[in-house]
Amino acid sequence: MTKFEELGLQDTLLRAIQDMGFETPSEVQEKAIPILLNEETDIVALAQTGTGKTAAFGFPLIQKINAESRTTQGLILSPTRELCLQITNELKNYSKYENINVVAIYGGASITDQARQVKKGAQIVVATPGRMQDMINRRLVDITKIEYCVLDEADEMLNMGFYEDITSILSHTPDDKSTWLFSATMPREVSNIAKKFMHTPQEITVGSRNSGSDKVRHEFYAVSGRDRYLALKRLADANPDIFSVVFCRTKRDTQSVAEKLIEDGYNAAAIHGDLSQNQRDLVMKSFRTRQIQMLVATDVAARGIDVDNITHVINYQLPDEIETYTHRSGRTGRAGKDGVSMVIVTKSEMRKIKSIERKIQKKFEQKAIPTGIEICQVQLFHLANKIHNTEVNEQVDEYLPAIMEIFEDTSKEDLIKRMVSVEFNRFYNYYNNKRDLNQPKGNSEERSSRGASNDHSTRYFINVGEKDGYDWMRLKDFLKETLDLGRDDVYKVDVKESFSFFNTDNDKKEKVLAHFTDFKVDGRFVNVEESTNTGGGGGGGRRRRDGGGGRRRRDGGGNSGGGDRRRSRRSENSSSDGGRRRRSDRNDGGGFRGRSRRK
Ligand code: ADP
Ligand code: MG
Repeated sequence: MTKFEELGLQDTLLRAIQDMGFETPSEVQEKAIPILLNEETDIVALAQTGTGKTAAFGFPLIQKINAESRTTQGLILSPTRELCLQITNELKNYSKYENINVVAIYGGASITDQARQVKKGAQIVVATPGRMQDMINRRLVDITKIEYCVLDEADEMLNMGFYEDITSILSHTPDDKSTWLFSATMPREVSNIAKKFMHTPQEITVGSRNSGSDKVRHEFYAVSGRDRYLALKRLADANPDIFSVVFCRTKRDTQSVAEKLIEDGYNAAAIHGDLSQNQRDLVMKSFRTRQIQMLVATDVAARGIDVDNITHVINYQLPDEIETYTHRSGRTGRAGKDGVSMVIVTKSEMRKIKSIERKIQKKFEQKAIPTGIEICQVQLFHLANKIHNTEVNEQVDEYLPAIMEIFEDTSKEDLIKRMVSVEFNRFYNYYNNKRDLNQPKGNSEERSSRGASNDHSTRYFINVGEKDGYDWMRLKDFLKETLDLGRDDVYKVDVKESFSFFNTDNDKKEKVLAHFTDFKVDGRFVNVEESTNTGGGGGGGRRRRDGGGGRRRRDGGGNSGGGDRRRSRRSENSSSDGGRRRRSDRNDGGGFRGRSRRK
């Protein structure tokens, strides 16, 4: 593996890189940096979002700038104010051991302040096209002597309609400068720019052109149009740690979806063009600091969102342009992390999924909107893990004797049950017996992923999940091997954090259940039970993991010894909500999270 030291970077940069904690160059950095350092050339670099493009041009640029001269030598154009500030910040970090001034120029802030900073001597200017044009017109900045011009996120700049501004800005720059174009995708408009304004540029491509990040999984969920919002809530509830951007098509939808989410108790907010710059800044700040878990955004407003660790991108509605889908899904799966891009579709939009698949050259997985009971299970285990992993506050010690007294007669098992019930009950009460939101399948048998059991297939619950190191492929392999089954005998494997589901045909049921009676892996009981979580009607047939009052194992929850697998003991009709629904439940119930509301 190449190291930063081998790319030809000077010592001051290497020290800064070390301070930032970067260990090895990313692919685009490894390819671009030596070329840019050693040659005066134009370059077109295509790499997905989150692959480290800023440093790929930033390091060579810093190294090439003459710090002795105060002339503006480098210009970076970037689509939004947020990106502009982010790049400026990064460049300042890179150049901390140099004497280089980097100045940001963007709309929505005082132009005279910015002009003053430029005047003090800015070797590098980072600008949004609109404000740059403005400052050129007012002669507040001089770019006639620049040697390097970077067009960052070129595809997004063009998407946002900055073509005219860019051409006009470039007309003020010298012909013999080098132009470095960085982009995630290469639509026609970008290659036009390259043809028109660049001299035989070298091209670097990381990954395939126009494809999304490899770290992103693409999923779609088919629902009827009127269930879109309920589906969104279920997706959120089934992913308790979600940190997501939810894309809507219009400002109005963006606003109304966010409002509904807030009303239903989620940490959500809207970001769109009708908000003032100040409001947008506040929203982005809360999002970065995770006070907001679901940011509902229009495509234009989202251009500036450059936040790492987004776990899910949710396409509440699909965009008109396929290109836009690539941008949306590129918000997740950044900096080496995994991400999921979910699409909520109606039947009539199914064609679009095909076109997107062709474009991104990746397959979508059709998934089922989780049933109410599946969500309850996810939440229950999430809560149990959370309690288990909580750091104990020593302040509690003082009250412990008194608290112990309260629980004197409570067994450990009972105590745990009560503790998890505190929160679990809310979900259970909301989701119990809620209907299935999934659109019944038309033709595509293969794609069907309705989880629940049906006439010929049995759905199982198994008490191992992601935290045991399984993903769906590993679990499928494990089950095939353990049960000695064929390639396609285990299907619809759905791995959650600490448990999973899978299906087999009915004729395998006896074998599966018998095999996992008293079955241990690494000294731990692995337990498989039939899951009859159809989620609607008839009492839901909820699994009972214990026979009620019987012995239970802490580690696996497996029934000890005997094979008497007791089925649901809950009475069929005992599950009514008893009028205890909350206001937010008037549609579907379910969907509420966290205690905190919008700040
Ligand atoms: P892009 O412009 O390609 O979308 P960025 O330049 O914004 O990506 O980088 C994405 C993230 O990865 C940033 O948080 C950045 O600090 C980090 N990063 C970039 N290069 C490296 C590296 N070589 N090692 C570790 N982290 C890196
Ligand atoms: Mg970038």
